[in-house]
Amino acid sequence: MPAVAPASARDLDAYRERADRFIARLDEEYYRHFAGLKERFELEPIYAEFADLTTLEQTQTIGAAVNGSSSIRELWRFACEGYLGQLTKELEEQVAQAEAQLKATVDGDEIPFRMLKPSIMNEPDRAKRERLERSRNELVDEHLNPLYLEAHARTREAVSALGADNYFDLYRRFGYDLDALAEQCRSFLASTEQLHTTIVDKVFRERVGLPLAQAERWDKDRMMRAPKWDIGFPADRMLPALRETLRGLGIDLDAQRNVRLDVESRPTKDPRAFCAPIEVPDDVVLVIKPAGGADDWGALFHEAGHAEHFAHTDASLSMEHKRLGDNAVTECWAMTFERLTDTAGWLSRLLDFPRPREYQAEGAAVILYYVRRYCAKLLYEIEFHQVEDPTALRSRYVELQADALKITPAPEDYLWDMDGSFYVHAYLRAWALEAQIGAFLREKFGNDWFAQRSAGSLLRELWSEGQRLNADELLREVTGGSLELESVAERIREASSA
Ligand SMILES: [Zn+2]
Repeated sequence: MPAVAPASARDLDAYRERADRFIARLDEEYYRHFAGLKERFELEPIYAEFADLTTLEQTQTIGAAVNGSSSIRELWRFACEGYLGQLTKELEEQVAQAEAQLKATVDGDEIPFRMLKPSIMNEPDRAKRERLERSRNELVDEHLNPLYLEAHARTREAVSALGADNYFDLYRRFGYDLDALAEQCRSFLASTEQLHTTIVDKVFRERVGLPLAQAERWDKDRMMRAPKWDIGFPADRMLPALRETLRGLGIDLDAQRNVRLDVESRPTKDPRAFCAPIEVPDDVVLVIKPAGGADDWGALFHEAGHAEHFAHTDASLSMEHKRLGDNAVTECWAMTFERLTDTAGWLSRLLDFPRPREYQAEGAAVILYYVRRYCAKLLYEIEFHQVEDPTALRSRYVELQADALKITPAPEDYLWDMDGSFYVHAYLRAWALEAQIGAFLREKFGNDWFAQRSAGSLLRELWSEGQRLNADELLREVTGGSLELESVAERIREASSA
C-alpha cells in the first residue's frame, strides 16, 4: 500500500461533522420507512450525497492518522465499514428484495418468505412446522446464498486494500480482542453444558412437550414463542408499565422533550419496536405498535433502554462518543430494561402476573440458549473470516451450533446466520456487562432497584457518558471489576433457582 498522508486535525473535525449529518439522515430515513410514514426506503440518494466519506482515499487518510486514541480509531472503523458497505450495498438490496418477493408453497398455501418464521412459531402441528422450515431452507440456499457469497467475495478483496490480511484481522486492528473473547466463549460453553441440558430441556418439555434430546430446529421457534404466557403480557399494559418503570427511576417519559413516542397505528408500520436516535441526545424516537405477548414486551423494553441511553447522553461529547464507540454499552442498557420483563419481582409489582417465578426460570433458560448460540457464532465467524473458500464451512457451522445447543441447525443457514461487523462481539460483552451491572444494582439498591430513584440517578449519570467509555472501562468505573462472560452463567443459575 502506498504511503498516505494522515488527515489533519482540521480534516478530522470536518469529517466528524459530515459523518454526524450522514448518520442522522440514515436514521431519519430508517424511522420514516419502518414507522410506515414513507413507502420507499431510499438509502441510495443519502449514500450518494455523502459518498466522499467512504472513498478508499478518505478511509486511508484517516487510517494514517490513527494514533493511541480510540477516538480516531472509531472514525477509521466508521470509514472502513462505510467503504465496505457501499461495495456490497447493491447485493444487500437484492437480498432484501428477494426476501420481500419470494414465496413458498406449503400444503397448497402460498406463504411469503418473511412470514415463514412467524408461521413456524405459531404452528402447533409439528409435522407442518417441519415442512415450513424445509421450504424456507430451500429458498435460502437457492436464492439468497449466491448473493451472500458474492458479497463475501467483494468484502474479502476490499479488505486487503484497507491494509488487513482478512476481515478478522481488520477487526483486530479496530481493537476488538476477538481471541480473548473466543477463549471466554469456549470456557462458558464448557461450564454451562450441564446447566443447558438441564434447564433448556425443562423449558422444551414445558413449552413444546418434548425433551431437548428429541427437539428439532422447528421446535425451537415454537419454544421461543411460548403462547401460554400471552395472558400475562397484555398489549394495553405495555406503555403504562414502561411509564411506571421509568417513574420509579425518577424519569417522566411524557416530560422528556427529546424522546418522541410513536405509537400511532399505520398499515405499513413495522410490528417490531425500534429506536431511532436521529439526533443524540436531542431527537430520539421510540416506535411501537403494541401487540402484547412476552416477545413484544421484551422488544419494547429493550428499545426503551436504547432510547433512554441516547436521550441522556451528554450533548457536549464528540460525534464518535455519541454515535460510534462500543455498542456493547448501548446493548447493555437495552438488555437491562429487557431483563426486567422476566424478573419475578418486577412482574409482581407492575403486572397481575400468574406464576412469576416459573416465568423467570424459563426466561433464564432462554437467555442461556441465546448466549451459547452467540458463543458458537463467534467461534464460527472467526474461522469463517480466515478461510479461502467459505463454502467449505457449511458443515463446520452445523457442528459448532449443534455442539452448543444440542439442536442441529440448517446447513443452508451457514451464511444467513451471520452478523456483519462482528456485532456478536458487542452482544456477548453486553450480556456480561448487563449481568455484572445488574448484580451491582441489586447489591447496592436491593432487588427492587428499578423502583429506587437513587438507582435512577446512577443510571442517568452512566448514560450521560454516551459511548465514550467502552464496556470494559465502564465496568471498571462502576464496580472496579473486569468483564467476565462467566458472570452470565451465575446470573442464569440464580434466576432459574430463585
Ligand atoms: Zn439492541
